[in-house]
Formats: sequence, C-alpha cells, structure tokens
Amino acid sequence: MLTHEITERWLNYFQKQGHSVVPSASLVSTQPGSMFTIAGMVPFIPYFLGQEQAPWPRATSVQKCIRTKDIEEVGKTARHGTFFQMAGNFSFGDYFKERAIPMAWELLTTAQEDGGYGLDPERLWVTVYEEDEEAYALWRDTVGVPEGRIQRMSKDENYWDAGQPGPAGPDSEIFYDRGPRYGSEGGPAVDDDRYIEIWNLVFMQYQRGEGSGKNYEILGELPRKNIDTGMGVERMAMLLQGVENFYETDQVRPVLDAAAELSGRAYRGSEHPEDEGYDDDVRMRVIADHVRSSMMLIADGVTPGNEGRGYILRRLLRRAIRAMRLLGVVEPCLNVLLPASRDAMGADFPVVVDDFERISRIAYAEERAFLKTIESGTSRLDEAVSEARAQGSAVTGADAFALHDTYGFPIDLTLEMAAEAGVQVDEPAFRALMNEQRDRARADARAKKGAYADLSVLRALQEQRDSVFTGYDETAT
Ligand code: ATP
Ligand code: MG
Ligand code: MG
Ligand code: MG
Repeated sequence: MLTHEITERWLNYFQKQGHSVVPSASLVSTQPGSMFTIAGMVPFIPYFLGQEQAPWPRATSVQKCIRTKDIEEVGKTARHGTFFQMAGNFSFGDYFKERAIPMAWELLTTAQEDGGYGLDPERLWVTVYEEDEEAYALWRDTVGVPEGRIQRMSKDENYWDAGQPGPAGPDSEIFYDRGPRYGSEGGPAVDDDRYIEIWNLVFMQYQRGEGSGKNYEILGELPRKNIDTGMGVERMAMLLQGVENFYETDQVRPVLDAAAELSGRAYRGSEHPEDEGYDDDVRMRVIADHVRSSMMLIADGVTPGNEGRGYILRRLLRRAIRAMRLLGVVEPCLNVLLPASRDAMGADFPVVVDDFERISRIAYAEERAFLKTIESGTSRLDEAVSEARAQGSAVTGADAFALHDTYGFPIDLTLEMAAEAGVQVDEPAFRALMNEQRDRARADARAKKGAYADLSVLRALQEQRDSVFTGYDETAT
C-alpha cells in the first residue's frame, strides 16, 4: 500500500466517523517558542489550551512534521525521520477514550478490502499509563486485547502535559510486533526495535498546576476533555510495504537509490553496526531523509542561515552532502538527489513540483557554498594533519577550532576527515575552546543588557527544548 493510500484511508475513515478534514499546516510553526511543527496537534494548541474555541468538535489531519530532536537516530533506527507525516484524529470536548480506542483498533485491523490497514491483531501490543484503569479496561474488555499484550507504563513514558499549567493526562500507545528476527520478546517495554510504535493516543483529562518536569499537582478533571492522537504514516507504510525501515518506503527510497547509484556503492539494508556495509547504508539512509526534509523545509519558506530554522536547514543539507562525500562523491549531487525526492513526493505535495525552480536554486547555492568551504578548509586541515603526523600526535584543539571558526568546518567533518587520514583530533581541547568562546559571547550579551530583551530568539535556538510542546514530544516517548 503506497503512502498516499495510507493517508487517504485515514482521512476517509475519520471523515466517516464525523471528523472535519483539516489540511496540514506549514512546517514552520506559528506557535510561540517553537520553530517547527513537531506533531499533528501543534496547529490545534489554542483549542486544547482553551484559548480559542475549536471550529469543529472533531477533526482529522495528516500533518507534515519536522523533529530535529531525532536527527541522530536517522539511518540507525528503523523508524525515525527528521521529516515525517503524522496522521491524527482530534476531539475538542467531544468524544473521549471510549471512542478513541475502539476507532484506532478498527482502522488498524479492518481488512484492506474493507478500507482498513489490515494489520494482524495478534501482532499488536498496547501500553497504558499504569493508573489509567479506564484505558486498560477499554483495551481488554471492549476491544479484546489479551492482558499479556497490554503493558502498564510509568508517568515518564505514558503521561502527557504541555509543559505548563493547563491540560494534562495519560496516553496509550499501539505497537506492532515485527517478530523474533528483530529482537527480544517481552513487548514494547523491552524492545523498541522489534516492537515499533505506530500510534499514540493522548487523553487530555486533567488540569495540572505549576511545576517542572513531571512534578506538578493534578488540580482536578478538565470540564471538557480532549483527544489528540498521532500515527506515523511512514511507519505504517514500512509495515504495509513489507520493507525494513522508514527509508525504504515509497516516498523516501528513490533518493536512497539515487545516492547508491551516484556513488556506485550497493545499499545492503544492514541493521547492525557489525554488519558489512553498515556505515554506507546509514549514510544512504541519512541522505534520503535529509534531502527530503530540506526540500520540504524550503518549500515552506525556510532558507539556509546561521540561526534558528535556517541553521537547521543548513545542517540537514550539509549532513547530506557530507554523507555523499563519505560515499566517495565529491562533485555536486543535489541536482540528482533533489529531483528524485521531488518525483517521490510530488503527487502528495504538488508544491515541490510547482516551486521546484526556487527550491532547487536555494539548495544548489547552499551546496556550492559548502563545497567551497570544504575546499578551502581542506588544505588547512591537510596542514594540521601533516603537523600532527610529524609530531606523532593528534590534530590540536586550536587547529580544529580555527577550522571551525575561520573556515566554517564543523567538528564532525574535521573528525571524519582526520580519521580518514589516520590521525586523531584533540576533541576535548577543541570543546574547551568552543566553551570559552561561548562564555565570551554570553558575557558580551549580558553587557549589552538592554539590547537583549528579546529572549525569544535564544529560546528558538534551543529548539523545542523549552517550548510548550516539549511535553508532547518528550513525555510521549
Ligand atoms: P518514538 O518513541 O518511536 O521515538 P515518539 O513516542 O517520540 O516515537 P510520538 O511523539 O508519540 O512519537 O508521535 C506520535 C507518532 O508519530 C509515533 O507513534 C510515531 O508513529 C510517529 N513518529 C514520531 N516520531 C517520528 C519520527 N521521527 N519519524 C517518523 N515517525 C515518527
Ligand atoms: Mg509516542
Ligand atoms: Mg515513544
Ligand atoms: Mg521519539
């Protein structure tokens, strides 16, 4: 089943259940304190917080999301992309758990010829918050999940809040068992690679008070309880397409194949660091993910820069280009990779076709600039490497810092290129110099106190960490 059909079935199903279909919002979040839309609920935050009245009692969407928090997972786990689509159904004071749970089950397990996803119910596991007896009973008695496949989880795992006083409540997650080939038995509490999380149901049930982290008081039940759910579209695609991971699904794989072809190296689909070809496979998966994310970000108006969203985009593009270099391709390659991603995504996101001229111009310019950076920094790095060799020591922290500061050479590039030359880098010394520089910048900023009133920029730079949605992203892990 193609990704497109997965989203179509989703919207059809929830429309039939009385939900209004709401188009995806931009990846660029308009919510204060957050850079990107990280979940399907983000555009609905004002309704959930009670700041605005929702125009519909029930809504459904397939929301474009960016989670840069997951960047280090990309290519290594089977299930994390920086860009992905989250399908969701939402109730604004309308139905609650008693409907949300059976609907989720119905859509997952209804046969494909009858409009569902046709997942084998025996392979589905669920988790609930340990004190949520209601959810437990609904799964066991109404839906009929055997007790052996319902796991109770702590507040750390299965409790949501918005990181501030307001709505909070337990959540419940649905996992798919990929089988013994992928890891050990024991359910999602034991192995998150074998048991893939596909869908998270959040029950906004309580009013929480002041506090930090999970330390806050529950003040009482919410007068109007809400439902917020999110299902990973690509994760469903990976299961229904019988492929091994996110990156091999129909909207992502073509870029991976293009990277393999450009480099003349084979993609082996390996999963473990000890497998042959693993490093190259990770690189190809990273490229496939990052090229797509970059394209979608530029389509939504982000341009490369040194701060905030622009920096995230720059980092994604550069990581993709660097991964290509590590696959042995030193020439520009976005002119092949980007069209591959456009062709894979264009049917569902016509903007990437219609606006391709602009999108590609921005991406190609960034690639040229980065390749130049690499070129000019490379001779400086070569000097540092020869010096280190002559001394029988590592590349000094000062050299690595100069490469970073003057040539825009990211430390991981220095590390990898030095390693290729068989030399180490004094990374602790480099970090110390970076910290000194940061402290100096902070002191300067404090000195300019008045000009420093706008903390929002700083907060944005800390990404989603301090944002009101941190709760969603971090509690629901
Ligand atoms: P995980 O524990 O696997 O990282 P999560 O608990 O962080 O997932 P949620 O915040 O609950 O994810 O998001 C709801 C759903 O969105 C998940 O159940 C999953 O299907 C999907 N999802 C979350 N993060 C990603 C990602 N980085 N790439 C693809 N799909 C994702
Ligand atoms: Mg989750
Ligand atoms: Mg999780
Ligand atoms: Mg996560």
